[in-house]
Parts: sequence; structure tokens; C-alpha cells
Amino acid sequence: MAGSYTLTMIKPDAVAKNNIGPILGMINEAGFKIKAMKYTQLTKSQAQEFYAVHKERPFYGELVDFMTSGPIVAAILEKSNAVEDFRKLIGATNPADAAEGTIRKRFAESIQNNAVHGSDSDENAKIEGDFHFSMCERF
Ligand code: GDP
Repeated sequence: MAGSYTLTMIKPDAVAKNNIGPILGMINEAGFKIKAMKYTQLTKSQAQEFYAVHKERPFYGELVDFMTSGPIVAAILEKSNAVEDFRKLIGATNPADAAEGTIRKRFAESIQNNAVHGSDSDENAKIEGDFHFSMCERF
């Protein structure tokens, strides 16, 4: 059965452009509840750990620099079929390929500065939720 939780981050590009509010609005309108949320800035070692799966990719260093360049909003979102439904809501990694009406189509600047993160599996949703939040930060 598909899981009920996913992990999102509103990335530094979207925070810098004052788009936290409109992005959270789209998330709520799509039926996701906020289970945990924080406004924070990743350290270099935290960003390296979060994106460790990409460490062999040529853009890894650039991605870590981008994700530590300013504050982010991290949140655990709750909904049935959360991972798949949230990936649909955010759209393709490259905003040039993102469907109309998706968060990345509306707010992303580039394939890297693409406004939001969304977990890609139930397993990673759990790992990423545990990365950002303790049990007493979840409601
Ligand atoms: P996602 O699951 O849609 O976020 O995409 P990936 O897991 O493939 O990549 C993780 C993140 O790395 C993306 O959201 C982008 O911020 C960044 N990224 C992906 N592909 C590229 C690329 O070709 N170049 C750069 N600079 N960044 C990329």
C-alpha cells in the first residue's frame, strides 16, 4: 500500500523570491496536511548528506552550494499516496518539462534552482523525514 507521508523542502531560490506562501497554498489546496515544518538553513555537511545519492553526479558540488546558499522550509506532508501525488504536484525536475499547473512550472528558475524537493519513494520519505525532524516535532 502506498504510504501517507512525503518530505518537501522549499528551496533557497523560492524562499529568496518570497514564494513560501504561494507554494504552501498550492500544497494545502492539493489536499496535503502539514505534519511537521521548519524554517532553517542547511550546513554544507547536512546538504552533502541529504544529497549523498547524487555524489557521483557532475552537479553534486553545485547542488550542495545552491542548497546551502540561503534558508529553506522543510516539511513532512500527509495525504494518501503522498509520494506519488506530491511528485505530480511539483512536476518534472527541469521546469522546461514541467506540466502546466505544477509548482515547478510556476516557480522554478532552472533544472537546479527548481523551487521544491519531493521524496521519490516511501523509503526515502522516511529517511528524509527523519533527517529533518525528531518525533516531538511532528503533530
Ligand atoms: P528531483 O527528484 O526531481 O528533485 O531530481 P533529482 O533527484 O534527479 O535531482 C536532485 C536535485 O538536483 C534536483 O531537484 C535539482 O535541484 C538538482 N539537479 C538535477 N539535475 C541537475 C542537473 O543536470 N544540473 C544541476 N546543476 N542540478 C541538477
